[in-house]
Amino acid sequence: MRRFLIKLRMIVMKFGGTSVGSAERIKAVANLISDDREKIVVLSAMSGTTNTLVQIARLFGENRQTEAIVEIDKLETKYLETLSALYSTEEATNKGKNMLKSHFDLLRGFSSATFSDCNERTILAQGELLSTALMQIYCEEQNIASKLVPALNFMRTDQNGEPDSAYIKEQLHKELGKYSGVKLFITQGFICRNPAGEIDNLKRGGSDYSASLMGQAAAAAEIQIWTDIDGFHNNDPRYVKNTRAIRELSFDEAGELAYFGAKILHPATVWPARESNIPLLLKNTMNPDAQGTLISSHTKGEGIKAVAAKDCITAIKIKSGRMLMAYGFLRKVFEIFETHQTPIDMITTSEIAVSLTIDNTAHLDEIVTELKHYGYVEIDRDMTIICIVGNNIMSCKGSISKIFTALDDVPVRMVSYGGSRHNISILTDNIHKDEALNRLSEYLF
Ligand code: ADP
Ligand code: ASP
Ligand code: MG
Repeated sequence: MRRFLIKLRMIVMKFGGTSVGSAERIKAVANLISDDREKIVVLSAMSGTTNTLVQIARLFGENRQTEAIVEIDKLETKYLETLSALYSTEEATNKGKNMLKSHFDLLRGFSSATFSDCNERTILAQGELLSTALMQIYCEEQNIASKLVPALNFMRTDQNGEPDSAYIKEQLHKELGKYSGVKLFITQGFICRNPAGEIDNLKRGGSDYSASLMGQAAAAAEIQIWTDIDGFHNNDPRYVKNTRAIRELSFDEAGELAYFGAKILHPATVWPARESNIPLLLKNTMNPDAQGTLISSHTKGEGIKAVAAKDCITAIKIKSGRMLMAYGFLRKVFEIFETHQTPIDMITTSEIAVSLTIDNTAHLDEIVTELKHYGYVEIDRDMTIICIVGNNIMSCKGSISKIFTALDDVPVRMVSYGGSRHNISILTDNIHKDEALNRLSEYLF
């Protein structure tokens, strides 16, 4: 009888900053990744590091070299402490020290450079380069067979600043193909190259997105996001007590929640996974036995599942008695935002006005100047979008009345309902966010 060996597709496991935030945590992660399954392990920088690197880059940018060097030295001391708690052999310790020296010497070297954006991005990249090198040396010390593959060899953005999926797929396969027999690949989240070949990144929190893009490129069986909480909670645990993990979410529900502020996932993480129909599993590194949240194409349960909030929103109202209802008016308004590459999040209309929201205000002045040709323009800053997500909310009896009863005392500036079957968005002033999230939890869950 012939036997067929079924080769399991590889998985991607991403560990966030807290998950690799200390020697003890790095050891725990090594334990979680050391089974026989073929996998790509994507690491963030150790928690706090990227913030410190942002500060160091700012100091260099402001010509405050001495202060920048003080911060670099402090960070190096922290890493040396981690290193001595992590490694037990002289060989690993020496290797680790040489590795740290090369990264920290590079950082110190920026004190004599003319500072540019490119320098800043190179500085920010050091966090992920450090954490992955620490992990690789630890795996070598523990005889865990692994290979450190540089994300800068295969992660790239295109001319629009979007990930270049075709390039990523081709180069990832090329990179992994160099090492036959290797089952455990370790690489950096967050960092990539831009079309000019410079070091760049996928924006803050971008390691989740890296993992999803790599999962898509590798046609992975599953993309696991390991973090410091046991899955996607039904409200923001930083503002609301007694939130609880949701067992299952659909790609659409999770995508909506991530886009509208649920910090557990970078806003774009769900897109590549959904496109390739690869389940995303959110797990807790501190409590690996907890079930976590499975995000897939299946939708379970009806009704409201979770609430999230996105801050720093600017609302723009254009009042124009004459033109609003004329055909072509909205197109002209949207064209102004398109010209200035500013995405619109929410939109509501009445007979004499249209209100919309943006979170990127880089071109607000130009946008307002052009909008003024079409009517009176009013701006509200520091607003928050509260996004209420679930399956088939619209056909769920009572959901709307519960939401509005909960928000009885909260001044609501805009409501968006009906855009999809699983989302209701409410705009309020940021000062009411805390109250709104807590009241919604009380009434909905
Ligand atoms: P990592 O460093 O692992 O990427 P993050 O800090 O980026 O972790 O994301 C995890 C954090 O997201 C949690 O500790 C929690 O405070 C916050 N968070 C916000 N909204 C949610 C939510 N709906 N469910 C779970 N966590 C959330
Ligand atoms: N280290 C990066 C950040 O802190 C990316 C990430 O952690 O996802 O934003
Ligand atoms: Mg994160």
